[in-house]
Amino acid sequence: MTTTNSTDNQQETFRDRLGTVGEGGKRVWIYPKRPKGKFYTKRWIVAIILLAFFFIAPWVKYQGEQFLLLNILQRKFILFGQIFWPQDFHLIVLGLITLIVFIILFTVVYGRLFCGWACPQTIFMEFVFRQIEYLIEGDAHKQKKLARQGWDFEKIWKKTTKHAVFYLIAFLISNTFLAYLIGSDRLVQLVADGPLPHLGTFIPLVIFSGVFYFVFAFFREQACIIVCPYGRLQGVLLDRNSMVVAYDYKRGEPRAKHNPLEDRSVTGKGDCIDCKSCVTVCPTGIDIRNGTQLECVNCTACMDACDAIMDKVKLPRGLIRYASEKGIAEGHNKLINARSIAYTVVLLLLVSLMTSLFFFRSEVEATMLRVPGTMFQEYGPDKLSNVYKVQLVNKTRHDVEATLELENHSGEIILMGGPLKVPGGSLIEANFLVVIPRDSLRMSSTPLVISVKHGDRLIDKNKVTFIGPNDIDKN
Ligand code: SF4
Ligand code: SF4
Repeated sequence: MTTTNSTDNQQETFRDRLGTVGEGGKRVWIYPKRPKGKFYTKRWIVAIILLAFFFIAPWVKYQGEQFLLLNILQRKFILFGQIFWPQDFHLIVLGLITLIVFIILFTVVYGRLFCGWACPQTIFMEFVFRQIEYLIEGDAHKQKKLARQGWDFEKIWKKTTKHAVFYLIAFLISNTFLAYLIGSDRLVQLVADGPLPHLGTFIPLVIFSGVFYFVFAFFREQACIIVCPYGRLQGVLLDRNSMVVAYDYKRGEPRAKHNPLEDRSVTGKGDCIDCKSCVTVCPTGIDIRNGTQLECVNCTACMDACDAIMDKVKLPRGLIRYASEKGIAEGHNKLINARSIAYTVVLLLLVSLMTSLFFFRSEVEATMLRVPGTMFQEYGPDKLSNVYKVQLVNKTRHDVEATLELENHSGEIILMGGPLKVPGGSLIEANFLVVIPRDSLRMSSTPLVISVKHGDRLIDKNKVTFIGPNDIDKN
C-alpha cells in the first residue's frame, strides 16, 4: 500500500531499512507506549483465555487420560480427549495439509489477524513479559529514562528483578511445554524427585528456558520480523483485497498539526494531525502511515491510539482501521464481500472435514501381515496353513475382544495364544493361522479378506495373501 505523505524524502526512507535498525546498522531498541482502547481490551480478553488454556490444559484429565498430550517418545497423542496412534498418521498428514491450505486462505482474506490476536509470540510478549516490564520499569518514557541513567541502585534492582522474573516465567513456560510432551503426572513425579536423578531432562529444560528468556527479554519483535516464516510469507499471501491494519491516507493526508480554531475541511488538510501516537505505541517500531509493511503484526495498538486522538480532536474514529488496500483506494469501508464470504465458507468446510475425519475415524484398527520368511505348512493330510501376525490398536477407552473371520474363502482361523483381548487405549500383537483345504485352492497365491469383529460388529477388514505350493498353478 502506498501513501501520499507530505514529506516525500521521509516517505521513502522506511523502505531502506527495518524500523528497528538505525542508520549505522545497529539495532534500535523499541519502547512502545502502553496501548489503551477497545481493541486492546478485547485482545486482553483473548489473551487471558489463550494463556489460561495453555497453562491449564495439561492438567485437565478426561476419562483418566490427559486432555492434550503430545508424547513423541512413546508415540502417544491425545487431542481434546481423543487418543491418536501412529496408525492415524494419515490423519495427521491430512490435518497438516488442511492446516497449510487453511493458513493460506485465511491470510489471503484476513491478513495477519492471527499474529495480532493469537500468535503465542505476541501473546507472551505483549500480555506477559511486556506487562511485567511496565510494572517494574514503568511506561515507555520511564523505560527510556532508566536506560539512559547510570547503573545506580534503582536501575540495578529494577533490571535484576525484571530479568529474574522473566527467567522464572520462561522456566514455567518450558515446564508447561514439558507437561504436554511427557504428561503432567510424569512432570509432577520429576519435580518431586528433584533435578539430580533426572539431569537428562533438567539440563535441556534449563536451556529451553534460557532460549525463551532470550527471545522475550532481548530478541522480541525480531522474532516476528526476521525469524517467523509466516511473517515472511505475508509478502506473497497478501493482496489488494486482504484485510490489514491500514492507515486511510485518502482521509488522513495532507497531514498537519492540529489547530482547534480551524476547520480542516475548509483549509484542505487531512485528518491526520501528525501527533505520532500511532508510532509511539507500535511494538515493531514502524509508522503505519507509510503503508503495509513486513514488520506490522496487526496488533491494533495504532488503531486504538489513533481513535483516542480522533476523539480528542473531535474527528471520526477509524483513520487507522482494519481495511483492504483496495477499500481505502476506492474509499469504501466494506470488509465483507463475495470473496471473503466464499473463502470463509471454504475455510469452514475444511475445518468441518478435518473435525469429522478426526472424530469418526475407526475405533479399532487392525494390521495383518504374513509372518516374514515363512511359507505354507502341511496341516494334517489334506490342509495347508499360513501363519500371520495381527496388530490391533484399540483407540477407545473400553476393552475390546476381537474375533477374526475369513470372508472370501473356505477355511478356518486358529488364534495362537488365546482370544484377542485389547484393553482400552492400547495395542496388542498376536499370531494366527489360516488353514485352508488343499483342494479348494486354485492358485499358489490366493488373496484373502479377513474381517475383524467385536461381537457382531465389523470393526475392520484386511487383505492378505495365502501362499500354497507352486504345483497348484500347473494343475
Ligand atoms: S495517531 Fe492518527 S492522527 Fe496521530 S499521527 Fe497517527 S494517524 Fe495521524
Ligand atoms: S503498525 Fe500498528 S498494527 Fe502494525 S505492529 Fe505497529 S502498532 Fe501494531
